[in-house]
Amino acid sequence: MVSERASAIEAVPRLLEAWYAQNARDFRWRRGELTPWQVLVAEVCLQQTMSPRVDALLPGFFAQFPDAASLAAAPREAVESALRPLGFQRKRAAVLQGLAKALAGRDMPHTREELLSLPGVGQYVAAAFLCAVNGEATFLLDVNFARIVERVFAPRLRPDLRDDPVLEQVGRALAAAATDPRRFNWAMLDLGALACRPSAPRCDRCPLVAHCAHAAEVEE
Ligand code: SF4
Repeated sequence: MVSERASAIEAVPRLLEAWYAQNARDFRWRRGELTPWQVLVAEVCLQQTMSPRVDALLPGFFAQFPDAASLAAAPREAVESALRPLGFQRKRAAVLQGLAKALAGRDMPHTREELLSLPGVGQYVAAAFLCAVNGEATFLLDVNFARIVERVFAPRLRPDLRDDPVLEQVGRALAAAATDPRRFNWAMLDLGALACRPSAPRCDRCPLVAHCAHAAEVEE
């Protein structure tokens, strides 16, 4: 059982990275077109919002507010108006302007600790930023990531996914085994959206089916 898990840990990132080459969703924060500040804005906007909606909003938003200084100096109403298509615009505008004021005129952060000290930046946003901008070997623990790990490997032990030893151990091991942390993490996000959905997963489209405990149970 332990050696089965070890072999799946080695295989899963490789399979996902190959699958990503054929199935990647195309978003501007994945293309290397954005500045680090703009990547951070994108990751904050992606919280609880579908990626295509954020992708559609960003060109107009960055045309108005290209950097932290311009966003920090903007009238709150203008920022709320620009964010209205995403919903929760009052809260989002407050978070983004707080972040802009903290970073205007400063270098962008390079470490997790620096990121976590900023207003509105939690563990997920910090990890997503470090992965996208620096290619850091980390894992992006959200409900999609947790669902895939639980189905392929083992159920979590605690209700809060941010405090679960199974997700933490498997996530760390997968990230360490990945050859390209960006492709691995973005593949996990895309697999959760396109195949390993919350209900009726499309196991016939999934590169992990040979290693997946959930798929094996369903087949029995
Ligand atoms: S085989 Fe099915 S259940 Fe398992 S990870 Fe893939 S889509 Fe999800």
